[in-house]
Amino acid sequence: LGRRINSAISSLNRSPTIDDKQLDAALKEICTALLESDVNVKLVASLRSRVRTKVKAALEGGADKAKEAQRRNVVQKTVFDELVSLVNPGVEPYKPKKGQSNIIMAVGLQGNGKTTTCTKLAVYYQKRGFKSCIVCADTFRAGAFDQTRQSATKAKVAYFGSYTETDPVVIAAQGVEKFRKERFEIIIVDTSGRHKQEKDLFAEMEQISAAVKPDMTILVLDASIGQAAEAQSRAFKEAADFGAIIVTKMDGHAKGGGAISAVAATQTPIIFLGTGEHLSDLERFAPEPFISKMLGMGDIQGLVEQMQEMAQRDPEKQKEVMKNLEQGKFSIKDWREQMGNVMSMGSISKFASMIPGLPDMAGSEEEISSKFKRMIYMTDSMTAYELESDGLCFVDMEKDGKTPIGVNWRAQRVARGSGTSVAEVEEMLFQYRMMANMAKGAGGKNGWIQAMQKMQ
Ligand code: GDP
Ligand code: MG
Repeated sequence: LGRRINSAISSLNRSPTIDDKQLDAALKEICTALLESDVNVKLVASLRSRVRTKVKAALEGGADKAKEAQRRNVVQKTVFDELVSLVNPGVEPYKPKKGQSNIIMAVGLQGNGKTTTCTKLAVYYQKRGFKSCIVCADTFRAGAFDQTRQSATKAKVAYFGSYTETDPVVIAAQGVEKFRKERFEIIIVDTSGRHKQEKDLFAEMEQISAAVKPDMTILVLDASIGQAAEAQSRAFKEAADFGAIIVTKMDGHAKGGGAISAVAATQTPIIFLGTGEHLSDLERFAPEPFISKMLGMGDIQGLVEQMQEMAQRDPEKQKEVMKNLEQGKFSIKDWREQMGNVMSMGSISKFASMIPGLPDMAGSEEEISSKFKRMIYMTDSMTAYELESDGLCFVDMEKDGKTPIGVNWRAQRVARGSGTSVAEVEEMLFQYRMMANMAKGAGGKNGWIQAMQKMQ
């Protein structure tokens, strides 16, 4: 998605003047990319007209050279801002409070990941000092209580359920009552999400809700349902008036557009994303990082967290990179160091999705890993001078010293030496530059370094 949007914008960028036709062509391309990412059709249409109006307004009042150079930024920034506002309904979700019983009820269709998410949530809050537990109010699915028992035991979280009681409302009320008495702080009620009749399902949810009086009801939504997210979330909103959304299976092939549509349709904030089957695969959701990741612009906060984790594992290696960053330096060597660290951590695809320019690097863990390896081979063929550089020595410039003509003999030598192609070297340089720009920007006063220090 990021790549398509960026290429639409750069084709706009290349044309000497910007007229309606060119702007429309670029917008059409951007909107097609959004539709293919499962953003709702109506949302895309209204986004298109808003972006158009804003861009035209921003570009009016003089087509001088400086303004021309900003065109790309205006379009990209407007698209970014519009998408962020779609996933940011401006509503604060409920925040559990210490020292009292916070009742959380999970709703959503069967298979969406409710039971898994309930355990993840319990673990999440338990880690943050809340005494947490789960009540299994799913009597529809055979083995539902066993599933809860197993995952709760694994997570070392208290649980409640029954093999004999058939009324989910009774179980929910009993469980909540018991845990309230025992002064649990986070009590999560898991529901079934299926019935022979849809209206029975909604009636059951209402009854459970009336019995346990949740402080927060969460809709658990499967990202892979794509365009169906809008209708499904609307239907649940009417029946169960949830105050937060958790989107699961973001690690799969889903492209996130469904999540955007669900928020826009219900004006309800997403609080977490499920990113895998393990108990720790739960990420806090924030609008800006989500959209910038989706657009291939990277996720600084996510990178900060990853870098912290690396720093804990190998403090010495990480120290050097951090020192350079503080001085606003991020050489190809620093970059290779980071890549190497990421490779040794495993889970490359997750990390790759946070790096600007990399999210479109489609493929399996092995494919991405082999791509990373090839990039490291390329750096092995570089001289010390090249490694310490910012990559510009690989590029020939026009006489003005600013406009790139193309890569030079150095890039050709690296390609030969590493058994790769010049195009691959070019791509590697591009990705290094994206990362370096982000790292340097983040190294500043309010950036990366600052954020890391705050978090420690
Ligand atoms: P429920 O019917 O809504 O309670 O759904 P479950 O919690 O039983 O989950 C259904 C399936 O989805 C299980 O196989 C889970 O392991 C899987 N699942 C849940 N969340 C995620 C996620 O974030 N990523 C992936 N890959 N799988 C998930
Ligand atoms: Mg379940």
